[in-house]
Amino acid sequence: MSSLGPIEDTGKVVIIGGGPSGVACALALQRLASASDRRVSITIVEGKQFVGERHYNQCVGVLSPPLPSLMRDELDLPFPEHLARGKITGYVLHSGREELEIVSHGEPSVSLRRVQFDAYMLDAARERGISVLEARAVDIEFHDEGVVVYTENAPIEADVVVGSFGLDEGSAAMFSRLTPYISPRALSSVVTKYHPGPEVMDDFGENIHAFLPRDPRIEFGGITPKGNHLTINIAGSTVDIPLMRSFMEQAYVRRVARNLDLAGKYDPGDLRLFKGRFPCSLARGFYGNRYVMVGDAAGLVRAFKGKGVTSGVLTGARAARTILEAGISQKAFELHYRAANQDIISDIIYGQVMRRSAIWMARVGLMECVVRAARRNPRLQQGLYDAVSAEAPSRKVLASSFAPRSVMAVLRDGFRNS
Ligand SMILES: Cc1cc2nc3c(=O)[nH]c(=O)nc-3n(C[C@H](O)[C@H](O)[C@H](O)COP(=O)(O)OP(=O)(O)OC[C@H]3O[C@@H](n4cnc5c(N)ncnc54)[C@H](O)[C@@H]3O)c2cc1C
Repeated sequence: MSSLGPIEDTGKVVIIGGGPSGVACALALQRLASASDRRVSITIVEGKQFVGERHYNQCVGVLSPPLPSLMRDELDLPFPEHLARGKITGYVLHSGREELEIVSHGEPSVSLRRVQFDAYMLDAARERGISVLEARAVDIEFHDEGVVVYTENAPIEADVVVGSFGLDEGSAAMFSRLTPYISPRALSSVVTKYHPGPEVMDDFGENIHAFLPRDPRIEFGGITPKGNHLTINIAGSTVDIPLMRSFMEQAYVRRVARNLDLAGKYDPGDLRLFKGRFPCSLARGFYGNRYVMVGDAAGLVRAFKGKGVTSGVLTGARAARTILEAGISQKAFELHYRAANQDIISDIIYGQVMRRSAIWMARVGLMECVVRAARRNPRLQQGLYDAVSAEAPSRKVLASSFAPRSVMAVLRDGFRNS
C-alpha cells in the first residue's frame, strides 16, 4: 500500500455511494489516471439498485446548466438528453396573494427521473471498467498503510476512501466513530407526485411554481411539471405528512395543481408521500488522512436551495483531481480540495443569511411586497430569479437585493395597494 502522496500506478480507491457525486468521482479518477498513464483500480459500493426503478429517489430531478458541460468536460460523458421529461424555462413565485412569473434568460433546465439518471451514470462507470459492488458498506478501518471497507459482500482494501453516501446516517456514524467527521445539518422535505391528466399537463407550461408561505414551518414549497405528472414538495426543519396535507389543501396550491384531487384520480401511485433531506451547512472534518467526502455528505451545496446534483458532480471531480495530483493526506485535501471548493464554502454563510431573511420576510408578509415591487423592477426580478433558481451565488443575490435601488423599489412599489 501507498504513502499519502498522489495515487500511483496500480493504486486503489474505494467509493462509498454510487449517486452522482460518487460516480462523478470514479469517472473523473479514471479519466485523469489514464491521461497520466496510471492504472488505478476503482470500486464503487452502492446499496441500492437503480435499474428497474426498485428504489425511489426523493430528488425532484430538475437538472440545470452547467451540469451538461461539466459532465462533458470533467467526465467525458454526454448529458442524457434522452431521459428528459420536460424543460423548465422559468418560475412562478407565490407569496401571500401575490404571484409573479420570472422567465429564465439562460439555457433551460431539464426535468427527469433521478433513478434513471443515477442508473445512466452507474452504467457508464461499469462500461468503463469501474467495478460496482452492489452492497452496503458497513464498517471501515484506517491503518497507516491503507484503509479497509467492510461490506455486506466482500471487504475491500484501498489506499483512500471517498465518502459519497449523501445524508445516510449509518454511513455518517461509521466515519464519526473513527474520524472527526460530523455530517451537515439538514432540512427535511416531503415529496409526492400527482397525475392531473394529459390535457392539464399540456396546458401547465414549463414553469416551476415556488411558494413562500407565511406558515413558519414551511421554508418553501414547489410544484414542478415532469412530463405526465406534477411533483409537489415542501421543505423545512420539521415538515411532516400532516403539514404536507395542509399545504396541499391550500386554495392557491390546489389552483396551481389544477384542482388537485386529494383522492388521486388518475394513477394509483398518486399522492404517496416520501421524505428526503437536503444539507444546509458544511460538514465538519470532511477530509483527513486517506478519506474525503464529496457532494451532500460534505455539505458542499448551496445552503438555500438546490443544484445538489451539479454540486455533487463538481465536488466528485474535484476530489478525483486532488487524489491524483496532490495526494490523500489531510494536508493535501486541505490545500487542494478545500481550496478548490472555496467558491461553494465561502458562499454558504450568505446562503444561510438569505434563507433566514426569506423565511422572516415571508412570515411578516414582506415577501409579498418584494414580489409586488419586482413586477416593475427588472433588477429585483433578476434577484428573485437567482434566489429561487440558485443560479447565482447567494452573495450576489444578497448584494443585489439589499442594494439601495432595490430597497427603494420595495419602499416605492411594494406597499402599494397593501
Ligand atoms: C426533496 C428533494 C428534492 C431535490 N431536488 C433536486 C433537484 O431538483 N435538482 C438537484 O440538482 N438536486 C435536488 N436535490 C438534491 C439532490 O438529490 C442531492 O444533492 C444529490 O442527490 C446529492 O448527490 P450525492 O451523490 O452526494 O448523494 P446521493 O444522491 O444521496 O447518493 C448517495 C448514495 O450513497 C448510497 N449509500 C449511502 N450509504 C451507503 C453505504 N453505507 N453503502 C453503500 N451505499 C451507500 C445511497 O444508496 C445513495 O445511492 C433534492 C433533494 C431532495 C431531498
